[in-house]
Amino acid sequence: MKIEQVLVGNMAVFCYLVYDENSKEGILIDPAGNVQQLLQLLKERGIALRYIVNTHGHPDHTCGNEQLRKATGALAVMHAIDDDLFQKPEFSGWARMLGVEPAGPADVRVQDGDELTFGDLTMKFIHTPGHTPGACCILIDGSLFTGDTLFVGAVGRTDLPGASFEQLINSLKTRIITLPPDTIIWPGHDYGDRPQSTVQREMETNPYITDFLDEEN
Ligand SMILES: [Zn+2]
Ligand SMILES: [Zn+2]
Repeated sequence: MKIEQVLVGNMAVFCYLVYDENSKEGILIDPAGNVQQLLQLLKERGIALRYIVNTHGHPDHTCGNEQLRKATGALAVMHAIDDDLFQKPEFSGWARMLGVEPAGPADVRVQDGDELTFGDLTMKFIHTPGHTPGACCILIDGSLFTGDTLFVGAVGRTDLPGASFEQLINSLKTRIITLPPDTIIWPGHDYGDRPQSTVQREMETNPYITDFLDEEN
């Protein structure tokens, strides 16, 4: 498996190209801008794009979806809850407010535990509500793409409509720190002191996790 982390858009979003080196089949996670640069990257690597995967429905993560769908024929994938929520007019208006293209409905709607395959790789969707009700982390071969659920040293905001801090903490407790400690964390924004982390490092240093671990001891 090959992972390329690309900083895109004007909100320091990390987009990820993940592909299988043998079959050259790949996915893009949160292609949030710089679409021409991403298409160029696919071309240079010779990748056939299978899926455009969104960790959640916020427009700063989905604004490249439509251009990429048209250019590559890849299928857009999102958790069903966020797919419904962000098609509502009050949410698609956000994208226009940000000056970006709103994403259309997903081609593939996923639920917790669903798996999709590309080349020799399988991605598994872990529903982690909190930042949005349909937020997901995506697990591929020991790497976890956490979107805005978990950043290096922080978590995503929970002051936006549909968000819940309580749910987010519960998702960290029950869905993320229960993974093997050496699971690599690939966050949805470049907000930390380094671009990636591990479950173990976050358990030792992320205040949102250490605080509740302390409480329990
Ligand atoms: Zn977000
Ligand atoms: Zn974000």
